[in-house]
Amino acid sequence: MNLRLLTVLILAALALALTACGGGKRDAAAPGDDLARIKQSGVLRVGVKSDTPPFGFKRGETLAGFDIDIADALVQQMGLKDVTFVPVTSANRLAKLQAGEVDCVIASMTITRTRAREVDFTIPYFQDGQALLVKGDSAIQSYLDLGAKKVGAVKGSTSSANMKQVAPEAQIVAFDSFVALLAGLESGKVEAITSDQLILQALAQSAKTKDLRIAGDRFSTEPYGIAVRKNQSRLRGALDEAVQGIWENGRWQLIFDTWFGPRAKFHTSSTFSITPYPR
Ligand code: GLU
Repeated sequence: MNLRLLTVLILAALALALTACGGGKRDAAAPGDDLARIKQSGVLRVGVKSDTPPFGFKRGETLAGFDIDIADALVQQMGLKDVTFVPVTSANRLAKLQAGEVDCVIASMTITRTRAREVDFTIPYFQDGQALLVKGDSAIQSYLDLGAKKVGAVKGSTSSANMKQVAPEAQIVAFDSFVALLAGLESGKVEAITSDQLILQALAQSAKTKDLRIAGDRFSTEPYGIAVRKNQSRLRGALDEAVQGIWENGRWQLIFDTWFGPRAKFHTSSTFSITPYPR
């Protein structure tokens, strides 16, 4: 056998071996695949709120809320061992995701087309809408009465852009946290505050000032989604499946009832539903 033929044979054998190793596994993880890493460690790192009742807030030493329970349920549904919660704010949640500090964000976050240019979202797992909270004796009955009054909103949320749409004259005052936002209303720094209605209701319940009230109806649509880094389609797919799974097996409803059911502190009615894709 001459040398050239031998080289050709060795190369052919090598190619065959490589194909046998990798080619057979059709769903083999590509390098940098978040889901493969998460499955290996068994832990999902989730960015959640710590100041946003009833979705993510501190209760004693631990975090509690609708989003916290949803995260726990999804982790179980995905067959993972554990979850690590990393507190995020409206303003830093996308940066923390993009910096790799968390694998996903479940933080009362609206799926918007603008945000979807930076990150990818799952299907919606909840929906709310934006509203106004004012003091009981305020003359404001809805956003139509705002004129050029000062309205507080949290930085990094959809709230200021939505507010400008419906009340272009209103002066938006930006706050760093929901705690500061509520304090801004109670101290009279602003005449109204705006965010998603269920957040405002929960803030009002936790407030020292007892006669705060929602003024008018919801004036936006805020579908909440789970954000993952761009092009992590296997992780997004696994989360999408898990969201549909907890809807199908009734776990979503149990969590909803815990936080918003007839006997819950934050009782509300909701027409939100998920239509699971056919198997
Ligand atoms: N859902 C709105 C948003 O994603 C407001 C609540 C929040 O900032 O977490 O901007």
